[in-house]
Amino acid sequence: MPTVAVVAARDDLQTAFGEALRLAGLGDLIPRGGTVLLKPNQHGGYGFTSPDVLREAALWAFSQGAGEVWIGDGPVWSLHDEGVQEYFTRSGLLQACADSGATPIDFHAGEYRVIKPDSPVLPETIGFSEYVYEADVVINLPLMKTHFNTLVTMGIKNLKGCLRPIDKKTLHEMELHHAIAEVARLIQPEITATVLDATIAYEGMGPGSATPVDMGLFVASTDFVALDAVACDLMGIDPAQVRLIRFCAERGIGEMDLEKIQVVGEDPAAHRRKFQLPYEAIAETFPDLHICTENACSGCAMNLFRALDIANSLGQEITCEAVVIGPRVEMAEQALFVGHCTREAWDDGPHVPGCPPTVDAIRQALTGIETTEGMPRT
Ligand code: SF4
Repeated sequence: MPTVAVVAARDDLQTAFGEALRLAGLGDLIPRGGTVLLKPNQHGGYGFTSPDVLREAALWAFSQGAGEVWIGDGPVWSLHDEGVQEYFTRSGLLQACADSGATPIDFHAGEYRVIKPDSPVLPETIGFSEYVYEADVVINLPLMKTHFNTLVTMGIKNLKGCLRPIDKKTLHEMELHHAIAEVARLIQPEITATVLDATIAYEGMGPGSATPVDMGLFVASTDFVALDAVACDLMGIDPAQVRLIRFCAERGIGEMDLEKIQVVGEDPAAHRRKFQLPYEAIAETFPDLHICTENACSGCAMNLFRALDIANSLGQEITCEAVVIGPRVEMAEQALFVGHCTREAWDDGPHVPGCPPTVDAIRQALTGIETTEGMPRT
């Protein structure tokens, strides 16, 4: 039976981090002088793994005898809008490294181990960052957050960040949930532990325009499927609703049945809270707007959600009845087609080119209003 630890994390994050791992049966996972890789969630919009958590996790690893601590990720967003230095500065990763003595790692600057997965749900080849294989200990450090496409993004989804940029893009052209579950299966042996940063979680229009929720928790386990299941329970979500969790459990990667998971530490019932899901947030704010996003990647989705957010805050009315993003183009009346993936439908309605289009281009197309007066900084 897998163990998942739920630990209060408010004042002394370093002690809470160590306690979460100890309760999960991983109190002595750091080999003396070994190299530890912390793999956070670095994302394009609001909601990164907290820099405070990264700093304290790194300091904890050093206190346990680590010779080197890497904090690394391969964020696609650093390839688009800004360089990796700017990106890691904005996310707080560089400061966390400066404050703890850890080394910032950009996966894209290193090698990728290319394998042939021989899987019908993956491309012919797929590449994982060599840093994941080189480290003695890999701690997956995701954030508790809702996600427009996968409902939640936590332990399982965070592993996609270990892939080459081309693979991340290609996965969106395949059956995304099965593809990520296969990725999780392939990289699972390298993942020593997962610690979910649920200090400040995010709900609503995630992952890019989500709203902070003060949860004050760490959730830790060696079984990232069981961890995601327990975390969903904390968010008031049935784990069976989450395809990524189901598909991982079906592959035998981990346990999703809450009856078969030992939860230690805090009582989940004392912290459970119903999180608002992305489509509940959209439906509440834009009840007449239909959004089709099947298999779209975060690029278009985050910019679309941000554009909707801005239009709403400026009081600008949405003039279309539907918005379509992503490669599985769904036809709809009065639709706006956003992004290059929807090219096949561009003869059938208004469209916004780009991969992804800018936030303001989408906002203008949604509202028909060109002015940027009063526009918040994006
Ligand atoms: S057009 Fe949009 S959904 Fe398609 S790959 Fe580009 S960013 Fe992703």
